[in-house]
Formats: sequence, C-alpha cells, structure tokens
Amino acid sequence: MTESIVQLDHVSKTYGPVTAVDDVSLNIAPGEFVVLLGPSGSGKTTILSMIGGFTIPSSGTVTINGEDMTDTPPVTRPTVTVFQDYALFPHMTVSENVEFGLKMRKLAKGIRQQRTEQSLEIVGLAGFGDRGIHQLSGGQRQRVALARALAVEPAVLLLDEPLGALDLKIRHQMQDELVHLQKNLGVTFVHVTHDQEEAMAIADNIALINEGKIEDYGPPDRIYLRPATLFTARFMGESNIFEGTVKSSREGTVTVGTRIGDIAVSGEGSTGDRVYVSLRPEQICPVTESAEEMIDIGEVRIGEVIFQGTHRLCRVVNTADQTEKPIVFRLPAEQQPRTGDVMRLHAKSSHAVLLKK
Ligand code: ADP
Ligand code: MG
Repeated sequence: MTESIVQLDHVSKTYGPVTAVDDVSLNIAPGEFVVLLGPSGSGKTTILSMIGGFTIPSSGTVTINGEDMTDTPPVTRPTVTVFQDYALFPHMTVSENVEFGLKMRKLAKGIRQQRTEQSLEIVGLAGFGDRGIHQLSGGQRQRVALARALAVEPAVLLLDEPLGALDLKIRHQMQDELVHLQKNLGVTFVHVTHDQEEAMAIADNIALINEGKIEDYGPPDRIYLRPATLFTARFMGESNIFEGTVKSSREGTVTVGTRIGDIAVSGEGSTGDRVYVSLRPEQICPVTESAEEMIDIGEVRIGEVIFQGTHRLCRVVNTADQTEKPIVFRLPAEQQPRTGDVMRLHAKSSHAVLLKK
C-alpha cells in the first residue's frame, strides 16, 4: 500500500445549522494532482482550508505526512495555499511578495533571496522582481502567487480556483503549465475548481463534491465515461438520461425498459427497480453497422442544430412521441442536417451507463 501524504478521515465541518463538509474521507498519494470539483457552495474551499489549517474540522482528523495535524496552524504545516484572489500585497514588489512566506518561516536572508529568484524563474518571471504588482497582467499576478507558494518548497500545494480570474486562452495555457510544473517538481497538488473541463485537463484524480460529500472519486476518463452517480453524469457535461424500470437481469447485465425501448446495459439490479441509463451526445450516431451490440434509439426528427466547430450539436425528438424530452447528439461538422430531417439513431450498448438515484 502506498503511504498517503494527505489523509482526511471522516472529516466534517458545520457552521451552526449549515453542514459545509459532511463526513469526507480522502487519501492523497505523494506527487498526485488531485482536483476537488463541484458546484459553488458544495464545500470545496472548506475541505481545502481544513488541509491547509485555516479551518478546524468539527469532527474527524487531518493527517499530513503521517502526523495528526487536525489542529496544527497553517504556518507549521508542510502545505501552502494559493488563494482565489491571490492575496498579493499591492505595496510590495514582486520579489518582496515572493519572499514574504520565507520571512514568515524565519529563513535566513541568503536562502530567501536564492529561493525567491529560483521560484520566479520556475514560473517564467525571472527579471520581474523589482516590478510593482499593479504593473502586472492578471496572468503574471497568478504566477507571482504561485512563485510565492513554491518558494516555501511545500510538500503539498493547495490551490483555490487559481485560474478563475483569467480569460479562457491564458487559463488553458496556465492549466498546461501547472501540470508541467507539478510533474517536474513532484509536489502534491490539491486544486479546487467548479469547471469540469479544467478538472479533466489537469487531474490525476477528481474528487467530485456535492453538498459537502464526495459523490465520485477517480481518474477523469472514468468519471466522465463511467460516472458512478446521476449527479456525476449530469455535472461532467451534457448527457442523455433515460429513466426506466429494470425488466430482467442476469450475469451482470440488466434490461431496462425506457421511453426509447428496452436497453441492455451492464450492471446489477432487481426486476422493478427504478433506474437511469445515460448516453453522452458523442456516443449517439446514425451509424447502424458495428461489430458490437447496438441500441436502437429509434426514428427522430431534427430540431435545433448548433455548429460547434469540430461537430454539430443536434437536438432531436422521437417521431413517435414528439412530446418527449429532446435527445442531444453530435454529427461530424461536414454533415449538414436540416430542421425536420428524419433519421434513425443508434448507440453502442457498451457505452450506456446504468445509474441509480
Ligand atoms: P465552495 O468552495 O464549494 O463554493 P464552501 O466550502 O465555500 O463551498 O462553502 C460550503 C458551504 O458552507 C456553503 O453553504 C457556505 O455558505 C458555507 N460556509 C462556508 N464558510 C462558512 C462560514 N465561515 N460561515 C458560515 N457558513 C460557511
Ligand atoms: Mg470556494
């Protein structure tokens, strides 16, 4: 068994009647890039803050490097936090900002200067040391905050929505840089975001947080392709969810009766169970020939078509029952369906995911 560098054991945090974090257990391995993903108010910041020492849990324990640090103050933990608003000091230069954490930790001047230069270099800001904070772009400020954190040489770097204030292009660039930095330095990163695309782009493992609990935990591809719960399927991008009832089950496959007919999907269930079957838009297509078992979704009429560069997103309704909720699927960009066109849709059985409430 690999040792965990961070271990949350049945951690909860309540504020009066509000339960911000509800019985969360999480083991983070050294050198891992973990993303806490979830909607606003789900408890991400509170979890991060309990790892960093800014919030003391109401119950449960926080172990870091094998030591119980549940009540240890931030400055004596091997963690550093990059806050959402960066918390840079506007009246200090870039260098002074980066050096600040080292002064707090009472390091000698020579070491402070060396580490400040090193970490500015790491984030691509060598030569910016004498600048004022107001002379920097948003992306550069973000780098200063990162340099200030890295200068301390933490075992665990905690990042609370660090890219939220940046425009899309810089955000994508910074995502790549964070991953490179993390892999090169081997530091454990715990990164908070509400953006599922960002989470998928950077995480080794995603902890999906919902109402203070970990709803799902695992590598991005598994979370996206085989979501564990209905919440995960809905949160991780667009999904077609077909509600239904288990009609029969045998050897790890259940047959679910839905509005589009019977769907055979792998999973467990008992006859009569109310369940859901999820299919991503890109898993549905008009193609019928396949070596694999296919689900016949039926004949549909094209409604809205939205061009999205790499593909066209189509909303369609079943010709047999037009009152039903639209089905969303993708066509290659070179195909140009028109509103009112009729086609028959299919999906691979192996792509369907069985979900319970
Ligand atoms: P997130 O970072 O996912 O948006 P937070 O961890 O900030 O969520 O908050 C989780 C819940 O706890 C929210 O309902 C929030 O209002 C509540 N909460 C957080 N901090 C406090 C506090 N200091 N006092 C009272 N309620 C709080
Ligand atoms: Mg937050």
